Amino acid sequence: MTDKVITKKTLDLLRQLLLTWYQEQGRILPWRQTRDPYAIWISEIMLQQTQVKTVIPYYERWLEKFPTGDYLANSDLQIVLKVWEGLGYYARARNLHKTAQIIYHEYDGIFPQNLDQVVKLPGIGRTTAGGILSAAFNQPVSILDGNVKRVLSRLIALPIPPQKAIQSLWQLSNDLLDPHNPRDFNQGLMDLGATVCLKSKPKCLLCPWRIHCQAYHQGLQNNLPMRETSNPIPHKKIGVAVIYNEAGNILIDRRPEQGLLGGLWEFPGGKIEQDETVEDCIKREILEEIGIEIEVGDHLMSLDHAYTHFKVTLFVHICRYLSGEPTPIECEEIRWVTLDEIDSFPFPKANTKIIEKLKKEFNNP
Ligand code: SF4
Repeated sequence: MTDKVITKKTLDLLRQLLLTWYQEQGRILPWRQTRDPYAIWISEIMLQQTQVKTVIPYYERWLEKFPTGDYLANSDLQIVLKVWEGLGYYARARNLHKTAQIIYHEYDGIFPQNLDQVVKLPGIGRTTAGGILSAAFNQPVSILDGNVKRVLSRLIALPIPPQKAIQSLWQLSNDLLDPHNPRDFNQGLMDLGATVCLKSKPKCLLCPWRIHCQAYHQGLQNNLPMRETSNPIPHKKIGVAVIYNEAGNILIDRRPEQGLLGGLWEFPGGKIEQDETVEDCIKREILEEIGIEIEVGDHLMSLDHAYTHFKVTLFVHICRYLSGEPTPIECEEIRWVTLDEIDSFPFPKANTKIIEKLKKEFNNP
């Protein structure tokens, strides 16, 4: 498909135009100042679902805390999750830890340079592997992340959603890749998507590929890439309990290791069933999850949070422990903690808002 659309001569030109543009306009980013595959791998994983400006302070803090892969491999997962706290998509942090241990045990602590080996590591797909191998070792391995799919779809005015043309887009990314300077080419392609060929209102007048871009010539740059028709996002309502005991400590639980927000701490609760009140839901969930009786008291706050595939609204109530031995029936672990101790545990973002509210209400009456 790409052979028909772009000739070899044009591919050469596009390559050259991008490399020249990158030399002049490329972003100066901390992970571009190193060839250390460990540091580059960390940046690639952080950038998977997060914007550059959010990633930079996390990246710098991470390297201070875990300066090498060996150090990360031998660190406690709870500390790893705490350092990741706030970045979201916590499976990324768990996979970093797991992968560091694999590299430590199976590769003598040396990051593998073979693509087949790299894509087998937890959390590293083909495009992340391309990003790491090209940036760290200047290997000619192409990339195809969300930004690159958009740029290439516009370049050839792809008439179908990119998800339906993945093979062709990989082929195009391969064909374009500069075999002599894959590092700068891939970085340039990422920068083009991030700073010029933007999702909305692409800055075509600043684009080095404008003359060859079919979307631009057809005036379709704002309409491409084509979208998949998507189903409405489900919305779950969750009852959440901040349970105090007589000593004034609060009960928190650690989520199962596998699955959404795995290994993080939270205030217990669960989904409100149809025709169930928030209070009844909280009582039922706490009995099912932890095996204790509670009294559901005042409403503390409600808050909305969006994940990739669904939205939640949390209805949070202050509760009083009544009876029963707290047991981790549907979680990994349970603790009673003070409001000061709570900061040392990694929590998902929505829960940190509850903590802020508790501190405001109860530390400064
Ligand atoms: S000309 Fe416009 S649409 Fe085409 S690649 Fe450049 S920024 Fe994107």
